[in-house]
Amino acid sequence: MSRTIIVSNRLPTKIQRTEESLTFQPSEGGLATGLGSIYQQDGNVWVGWPGLFVEDAAEEEYVRGQLRHDSMVPVFLTEAEIRDFYEGFSNSTLWPTFHYFTQYATYEQEHWDAYVAVNEKFCRAVLAQAGPEDTIWVHDYQLLLLPEMLRRERPDATIGFFLHIPFPSYELIRVLPWRAELLRGMLGADLIGFHTFGYMRHFLSAVQQLLGLSSQNGQIEVPDRMVLVDAFPMGIDYKHYVRAAASNEAKMHEATYREALRDVRVILSIDRLDYSKGIAQRLRAFEVLLQRYPEWREQVSLIMVVVPSRDQVAQYASLKEEIDELVGRINAQYRTITWNPIHYFYRSFPLEELASLYRLAEVALVTPMRDGMNLVAKEFIASKADKKGVLILSERAGAARELSDALIINPTDTGQLAEAMHDALVMPEEEQVQRMGSMQTLVRQYNVFAWTKLFMARLEYSKMKQHTMA
Ligand code: UDP
Repeated sequence: MSRTIIVSNRLPTKIQRTEESLTFQPSEGGLATGLGSIYQQDGNVWVGWPGLFVEDAAEEEYVRGQLRHDSMVPVFLTEAEIRDFYEGFSNSTLWPTFHYFTQYATYEQEHWDAYVAVNEKFCRAVLAQAGPEDTIWVHDYQLLLLPEMLRRERPDATIGFFLHIPFPSYELIRVLPWRAELLRGMLGADLIGFHTFGYMRHFLSAVQQLLGLSSQNGQIEVPDRMVLVDAFPMGIDYKHYVRAAASNEAKMHEATYREALRDVRVILSIDRLDYSKGIAQRLRAFEVLLQRYPEWREQVSLIMVVVPSRDQVAQYASLKEEIDELVGRINAQYRTITWNPIHYFYRSFPLEELASLYRLAEVALVTPMRDGMNLVAKEFIASKADKKGVLILSERAGAARELSDALIINPTDTGQLAEAMHDALVMPEEEQVQRMGSMQTLVRQYNVFAWTKLFMARLEYSKMKQHTMA
C-alpha cells in the first residue's frame, strides 16, 4: 500500500519539560489541522523536529515511542544544529532574503554546511519511513534541499514541495552564494507549490536565469522528468474560527474587555515579532491618524498583540526595542487619564481570547512589508458573524491576491495607511457587510482542507502526466 509522509521542520506537537516528566500536546497550527486528515490515516506519518533537546538515548527512545502513537516521527537536532541550521541559515539567510530584507542577511559557510547536514538528516529519517513508491510532501524554506536528496535515493517516489513564505524576485535570489544548489534542491520535487502566481513567476524566472531551464505553462523540463509548478493559496480551518468566535468563552472575554474600554472603538493588530510584519510603520501611521484627525483621540484605541519570536536573532531584539519605544512615546504623548491610545501585549493568547479580540475589533490592520500569505487576515474575516468590520490589508501580503474587498494599502505609505484607518472608521455599515460577505464566501470555500485536497490532486496529476509522457 502506498503511504503519504509529511515532512516539515517542526512537528505539530508541543513537548514541555517539567521537573519530573515530559508533557505532549498537539499544536493546533493551520498546517497541522489541514494535514491532520492525511497523516493520521493508516500508516501515514509526519516527520519533523519535536522542538526539544533530548538528554540521552533513553529519553530519545521514550519520545519516539510517545510520538509514534500520534503518527509522528521525530528528527532530533542538537543545540549546535539549531543555532547554525535554524537560527543561522534558515532564519538569518533565507528568511531575510526571501522577504526582501537582504540588509539583514548573513552569508556564513558554516551555516550553509549545517543546512546541508540537517537536510541530509531529514532525508535519512524520511528514507527510513518511505518505500520506493510512496508520496512525500515536504514543507517550507528550512528544507529546500530535501526534495533532490530524496529523489536521488527514491527515483520513483511522488514528491511534493510547498513554500510557505514568498519567493522573491530573481534579483534577490541571485545574491545568495548557494542559489543554484537551492533551486536544484527544490526541483527534486514533482510538484512545487507557492501561495501566489507572483511567487511562482519569480521561481520560474530564477530557474531560467540561474539554471538555464525554461518552462511552459508552469512545467519545467529537467533531465528525465517534468516538474510542475503552481499556485495554491493556503486557507484556514474556517469553521474552527467561526465556532471559536461564537463560543461563550469568547463572548465572555469580549464583554470584560468592552466594559474596561467603555465605548472606545478598537483597531486590532496581531503578529509574530518580525521585521517583515511592518509593526513600527503601523505604529507611526496610527500616530499620524491621531495628529491628522484629533476627533479620534479618546474615541479609538489600537490593540496590538506581538507574539515573541526568534529572540535569539539580533534584529528581532532591536525591533522589539524600537516597538517598545514607539508605543511608549505615542502613549505618553496622547494618553489621558481615561484613555490609552495603544494597548500593547508582548505575549501570545489562547484561541478563545484571540477570537474575542477579533469580535471586539471594528478594524483589523494587517500591514506587513512582505508576508507569504498571512492567516490573521483570514481568521478575522471568519470571526465576523455579523459581517461588520473592515480589513486593512497590505498589497504585499499573499492574502491580498485573494482578498480584493479589503482596503488594500502600501505599508510604507504612512499617510495612505492613516487615511485607510480613517476611511475604515467612517465606512457605512452596508459597505462593510458587502465587502466582508464576499470575503467570507471566498475564505470559507478555499479553506485549508480544500488547499490540501487541491495540492494532493495536482501532485497525483503531475505523476500521471510523467507516466503518460514516458
Ligand atoms: N496566533 C496565535 N496566538 C497569538 C497570536 C497569533 O496562535 O497570540 C496565530 C494566529 O491565529 C495565526 C498565526 O498565529 O494562525 C500567525 O500566522 P500568520 O500566517 O498570520 O503569520 P506567521 O506567524 O506564520 O508569519
